[in-house]
Amino acid sequence: MKPKKVIYLDYAATTPVLKESVKATKPYQTEVFGNPSSLHTMGVRSKKGMEEARKTFSKLINCRPEEIVFTSGGTESVNLAILGVGKKALRNTANGKPHFITTKIEHHAVLECFRELEVMGAKVTYLDVDSEGFVKVESLEKALSPQTVLVSIMYANNEIGTVQNILGLSKAIHSFNIKRKGLNTNRVIFHTDACQAPGFLDLNVNRLGVDLLSISASKFYGPKGNGLLFVRQEFKTKLEPLIYGGGQEMGLRSGTENVSGLVGAAKAFELTLKNSTKEISRIRDLQKYFVKNVLKLKDVKLNGPDIFAHEAQAKSHKLISRLPNNINLSVKGVEGEALMLYLDAKGICISTGSACSTGSTERSHVIKSIGVTAEEWSKGTIRITLGKFTTKKELDITLQALKESISMLRKVSNI
Ligand SMILES: *Cc1c(COP(=O)(O)O)cnc(C)c1O
Repeated sequence: MKPKKVIYLDYAATTPVLKESVKATKPYQTEVFGNPSSLHTMGVRSKKGMEEARKTFSKLINCRPEEIVFTSGGTESVNLAILGVGKKALRNTANGKPHFITTKIEHHAVLECFRELEVMGAKVTYLDVDSEGFVKVESLEKALSPQTVLVSIMYANNEIGTVQNILGLSKAIHSFNIKRKGLNTNRVIFHTDACQAPGFLDLNVNRLGVDLLSISASKFYGPKGNGLLFVRQEFKTKLEPLIYGGGQEMGLRSGTENVSGLVGAAKAFELTLKNSTKEISRIRDLQKYFVKNVLKLKDVKLNGPDIFAHEAQAKSHKLISRLPNNINLSVKGVEGEALMLYLDAKGICISTGSACSTGSTERSHVIKSIGVTAEEWSKGTIRITLGKFTTKKELDITLQALKESISMLRKVSNI
């Protein structure tokens, strides 16, 4: 039996793997299977493939190949960045209790690392965001202190698509570092969780002014379980590994690397970034079309940055304020979970706030942080995210299905 055709609108949770990426992985599973640390021919060939992958990534984010640490995905990269810096800082308390800054709307991978650092004795500031999810540069400036070790602010939010002013934030950190003497020994390190950025946002680490940057292949059409952390050369000594062993990845991440996965990930990254300007405008048009129509339904509202108010800015690629593929809606009086299941029964995959809290029905911390507190709005949150294979026809079917499901659910709850 042929499986029913599914409309997939959950690209922020994960993306399908491009066939070119699958093809690139194949030789490294069968013919070239050596351990990249082995010194014989087979090992050398594996290593060559992996180092080519590293070069591809380094070119596309404008860093040196030695500044890339391969990991098992976004979560591990984020853990290595935050706990790697945090554990080391907690060992050296000559400067007082180490202080960290993040925001209230980070991915759980980030927030849970900071909870752990708090347990270990660190002080953490969680910055507020405004009603569209933006962090104000001034609030970061106010929070920076002589004890601050690391700032971690996500590039683009996975639930509501808010794109932070990373450049403005990094400039604030840079000015603070200049004012604080000992520029090289005691600088505040800036990490950004950029898992949602590839294909949509500038990833040039030097232009952005970030020191650490996390990405995950499963969000850019590569094989799951692969990711990387960019570590600016001069900060390598500020990190401790989380996984100990044979000293792979410059001692920062032991264990035999997932060579085939990384080769496939590099291919996917290359293809995702290529022609992204055209793809961004195609997806943004679909986003606008969908939002315009879905807001015609009664008591439905958009969470996150207003795509129409920011349209003039959006025209200039650099000033993107919302991910072009993100649509987050509140449907008054309806459970998001129920709506998701109704659509699933019609063959449409969407998500409630976030796919990353493993089936929990708790209200999203992101939705709460942007001030959607009324029960009747906050419980009816759904997230629709578009991607490379999304068509207008799929969106038309989804609009119709949403309309039917909402009126059905409202009828049921009125009984
Ligand atoms: C997906 C995602 C992660 C986690 O990445 P995994 O590869 O699933 O571990 C972290 N942060 C953000 C913003 C994400 O979207």
